Amino acid sequence: MIAATGEHIFRDYISNDNGTHTRTCSVCGTEETTSCSYEETVIAPTPAEQGYTTHTCTLCGYSFNDSFTPALGCDYKVSFSVPDGVEEIEPMTSNTNSGITLPIAGAPEGYTFLGWVTTDYDNVETRPTGILTGTYIAPNDICLIALYQQGESADEYVLVTDPSSLIAGDKIVITANDTSNQSMSIEQRNNNRGSVEGVKSEDHSIFTPADSTAILTLGEGTVSGTWSFYDPANSGYLYAASTSRNYLRTKGNLDDNGSFTIAISDSDATITAKGTNTHNIIRYNSTRKNICML
Ligand SMILES: [Zn+2]
Ligand SMILES: [Zn+2]
Repeated sequence: MIAATGEHIFRDYISNDNGTHTRTCSVCGTEETTSCSYEETVIAPTPAEQGYTTHTCTLCGYSFNDSFTPALGCDYKVSFSVPDGVEEIEPMTSNTNSGITLPIAGAPEGYTFLGWVTTDYDNVETRPTGILTGTYIAPNDICLIALYQQGESADEYVLVTDPSSLIAGDKIVITANDTSNQSMSIEQRNNNRGSVEGVKSEDHSIFTPADSTAILTLGEGTVSGTWSFYDPANSGYLYAASTSRNYLRTKGNLDDNGSFTIAISDSDATITAKGTNTHNIIRYNSTRKNICML
C-alpha cells in the first residue's frame, strides 16, 4: 500500500549494531538499510585512563571506540643526593608508565659507587639491601641517596671464601678453580660464554683479570637468598637459558633462572640457578674453553 502522497513515511533509524542501520516505512513496511554516518569525539588520556576516539552514528546512536592512546601515567620528581665534592646530578622526571634509568654517581676518592638507596644508612655496619640501579619507577616524589663502599674498583680480585661476605654491588669475576687462569670473558657466544686467561697468584687467592674478563655486578636475585650477576658489557643478567641444554646467556630482565645460590667449599664455588631450567650450575668446560651451564 502506498500513501496518497506516493511517498514513504519512514520511522527513525534503528541500529543493527554492526555499522549499519535500518529504517522502515510506516505506511508500506519497506526497509532501507544503509551504513552509519559518524561523528567523532576524541577523548584525551588521563594519568590513569587511556584515551580513544568515539565514533557515534548521528542517526541511530550506534558507537564504537578506536585509536586508543596510552594513559599518561603520573610524573614524579626524583632528586639525587651525593656527597660533597661529587658532581651534582640534576633531578629527573619519572613517569609511572616508563620510569627512568638511574644515573651513575661519581665517587669520592677511595670509594666505589654501588647504587641508590631511599634512606641514608651506614653500610660499614649494616648489610645493604634494596640498592637501586638501572630502571626505576618512582612511586612518588623522592630523593635518592648515593651509596658507596670503601675501596677503589680494584684491578685485583680476591678469592671469595665465604659467601656471606658478599654484598650487592660487589664486582665479581668468575674464574676456573685452582691453578687455572681462565676466567669468564665478555664474549657472549650463541649458547655459552667465552673464556680468557688472567693471572692468578701462586696461592690462587688473587686474580688479575684480562681486558676482556667479564666484570659482573652482584645484585639480589628474585628468589630469597640468591644473587644475580649483571654483565654491563652485554647489558644483561647471566641466566640458565635452557631446560634441556647447557646454555648460558644474558638477558635484560631478571627472573628465577638468573637468580643463583652461591655455595663455597674448599675455595670452590658452586653457583646454581633457581629457576625451572634444570641445566643450572655454572661451570668451566676446560676441554672447550668456555663457561656454560651443567
Ligand atoms: Zn512506504
Ligand atoms: Zn547508524
